[in-house]
Amino acid sequence: MHNVVEIKIETPGAAYKKMLRICKKMKDRPIYRHDVAYPARNPIIFLTGLDYAYSLQSKGIFPKVIFAAYMKSDNLYHSSLTSIRLLNLVMCHITGDWEFQFISIPIEREFGNCYDKEVYVKYCIEKKVPLEYTRSCVSDSKIQCGICPACWDRRNAFRINNLEDKTVYKYPMPQDSPYPIVN
Ligand SMILES: [Zn+2]
Repeated sequence: MHNVVEIKIETPGAAYKKMLRICKKMKDRPIYRHDVAYPARNPIIFLTGLDYAYSLQSKGIFPKVIFAAYMKSDNLYHSSLTSIRLLNLVMCHITGDWEFQFISIPIEREFGNCYDKEVYVKYCIEKKVPLEYTRSCVSDSKIQCGICPACWDRRNAFRINNLEDKTVYKYPMPQDSPYPIVN
């Protein structure tokens, strides 16, 4: 474990978040609006990470790798391997440093990887990491909801491994995936 620095940023901005939510549900072009979600949310988060990494050079620390935690089931455009590569180019260009790497281990095909949370859950249980104290939920409830896509992925990871999930959830696990089926 390492010490962490917590940086608070508001993305998407409250001034337009409700309008973005409406856009997510629109049925027009592009047809996969749900997968656009909040389009700049994750790039803003990781560019902030880049800012921080760059700032550490003032202390004689020269980070060269920024890790995302995108997985196989992350189906939004801003969470794809293509998005990672594009943002990596942006990071290199705007810092003038072409040694910067931006990667997400679970979906790095160059390493032969394409996996989901079940790999992490299995590893953590084997190492006795108390996952019940971690949070995946993206709802605003204090207790993890248990039914949002992030909660579903988390619960499914335990289910796939046939492992006990000690996490307290607000609702029972739904039978089906919350992801929309797109034909
Ligand atoms: Zn949730």
